[in-house]
Amino acid sequence: MRELSCKLLVIGAGPGGYVCAIRAGQLGVDTIVVDPAPPGGTCLNVGCIPSKALIHAAEEVHRVAGLSAIGIAASARIDLAATVAWKDGIVARLTGGVSALLRKAKVRLIAGAAMLRDGKTAVVETPEGPVLIRCEALVLATGSAPVELPPLPFGGKVISSTDALALTEVPRSLAVVGGGYIGLELGTAFAKLGTAVTVIEAAPRILPQYDGELTRPVAQRLAALGVRVLTGARAGGLSPEGALRVAVTDGAEEIAAEKVLVTIGRRPRSDAAGIPGLGLEMSGPFLRVDDRCHTSMRGVHAIGDLTGEPMLAHRAMAQGEMVAEIVAGLPRRWDRRAIPAVCFTDPEIVVTGLSPDEARAAGHEVLTGLFPFAANGRAMTAGDETGFIRVTA
Ligand code: FAD
Repeated sequence: MRELSCKLLVIGAGPGGYVCAIRAGQLGVDTIVVDPAPPGGTCLNVGCIPSKALIHAAEEVHRVAGLSAIGIAASARIDLAATVAWKDGIVARLTGGVSALLRKAKVRLIAGAAMLRDGKTAVVETPEGPVLIRCEALVLATGSAPVELPPLPFGGKVISSTDALALTEVPRSLAVVGGGYIGLELGTAFAKLGTAVTVIEAAPRILPQYDGELTRPVAQRLAALGVRVLTGARAGGLSPEGALRVAVTDGAEEIAAEKVLVTIGRRPRSDAAGIPGLGLEMSGPFLRVDDRCHTSMRGVHAIGDLTGEPMLAHRAMAQGEMVAEIVAGLPRRWDRRAIPAVCFTDPEIVVTGLSPDEARAAGHEVLTGLFPFAANGRAMTAGDETGFIRVTA
């Protein structure tokens, strides 16, 4: 078996892993990064970037449809196959850019799935055969995968976010199981493209991680787009005719939908790459890390979606950069007080810091100020007065 050695081995080339590898390379650390997929991970290949491309295309179609309100006659029709090809071109440019940055930083990128033997050795199955890699420091960055609902396994008409982003025809109807940010971002985009969308959410309201004041404008816009939202509802399996069975508060219904998109969350890939064999301490399904992203094993770090919420690309990147600097001998600690998050619904929800409820729960005396866009001249002239800015002190 071919053997390689390095100072730092990074498993997974998503936003956490590729940023870590590039920064380590820039600091002169001899680094190898391994991934069976093109570098960029979930975010570049099947997550943030493809979804934002679809959202943008859908918004353009919708915007044209609304132009008559300001005296402009125009119409638009989408060719989703062409839109997906455009999106794939953006993804290829970005993943190619990451490969170029890795090369520039003198990082070796090995294409293949890694299987750990211990905290310092991994075997990678490459197209040219297995490669044994020995390292002094290890970074686990295998990210996360969509959660399946047991009665609705992925396949056929039941699709994940990855499948939804590759559809080449706009479905006539779509049931979205899970009203979190991924389901609502995609559901809103398809509604703007003319799909009849039904959202099924088990919690009493959509986007349960945000407070009601923030989610109300999103719920109102969904209603205006004709999206049916069932809250306190649980999806079961498919009926023999292929309809989606849903238990609602006052009974049950069957929803006939061409596609059923299941977006009930993502699970960390802590079962991948032989990670369970290391016997690391866990925090629920996530790997437990300290404020230097150290796991319970000496010399083994973990970053990104593997390490907990919020599962966001920029958090993974910031952790990756920090760990690279720690491996290079610099004094770094995780000192972030707030991690911004953007939910690309309509309107978008952009938050950072504590919400009023969280601040109160933390024992603070709370003041809030709220200014509606309906009273903002720029919002009026842009033709979109929905939403507000809220500041919590
Ligand atoms: P990942 O990006 O998941 O990368 C992990 C990598 O590890 C993968 O490339 C995988 O192939 C590799 N891997 C797995 N097993 C092995 C193995 N055995 N050997 C080698 N490699 C392996 N976040 C945002 O901040 N903003 C957004 O707008 C946003 N939108 C999203 C939209 C969607 C539809 C989805 C699904 C996610 C979105 N996210 C967004 C979340 C974001 O994609 C993740 O938080 C981010 O990709 C996590 O980075 P990571 O490096 O931890 O893992």
